[in-house]
Amino acid sequence: MSTVAENYLKTLDEVKSLCEKSGRDPKECTLVAVSKTKPVELLREAYEAGCRDFGENYVQELVDKIPQLPDDIRWHMIGHLQTNKVKYIVGKTFLIHSVDSVKLAREIGKQSEKIGTISDILLEVNIAAEDSKFGFKPEEVPDAVREIALIPGVRIKGLMTSAPICEDPEENRIFFHNMKQLSIDIKKQKTDNVYMDCLSMGMSGDYETAVSEGAGIVRIGTAIFGARDYHI
Ligand SMILES: *Cc1c(COP(=O)(O)O)cnc(C)c1O
Repeated sequence: MSTVAENYLKTLDEVKSLCEKSGRDPKECTLVAVSKTKPVELLREAYEAGCRDFGENYVQELVDKIPQLPDDIRWHMIGHLQTNKVKYIVGKTFLIHSVDSVKLAREIGKQSEKIGTISDILLEVNIAAEDSKFGFKPEEVPDAVREIALIPGVRIKGLMTSAPICEDPEENRIFFHNMKQLSIDIKKQKTDNVYMDCLSMGMSGDYETAVSEGAGIVRIGTAIFGARDYHI
């Protein structure tokens, strides 16, 4: 078996057992293999091991890879998305995780309507208020949700965050906990067109903590595909 296949299966096993340990149904947590900068051969190895969810950060790379791989893959756009590139990916992604402005949501809605589809999106939250990160501030999220919920062509499925780079994943527990709480608070508002049943958080360095705090999607790159040539 290839290294990527082994890593994928091992990570999947770990995510499942972490779910069980925290009393959650393993079906509640999806492992997205983050394949940015990695060649399609390696994605194929993960695919052959059973992976159907892949996450990409760059529009160009995403649109290049899609036609080279089987069409039962669910593609997740997880990187910062510029408004002028939305038209290239709408209709091709399963979920856009990185919606960080109302303006971007409007463009996704507009392009989706043009091709007669509805795009599922997550709102990105800058949960630790880091200057270097995109995303809504936690206190901005409720208003953004209300505004975006009215946009035709998009459906808010939940929230996403990238927690700070950490030495010890326990350092990020508070951020994952706050994300879960934020999603519960928003769900309670019962806004039409808002589902809030998906929480995308946890990467190679901190997914254990994220799963135990209620992650519904973990996005894992390095632990499956190895280190990237350049850091994102
Ligand atoms: C690169 C990336 C990941 C995966 O990070 P790893 O540390 O390699 O697991 C997850 N989410 C986002 C938004 C990323 O850009």
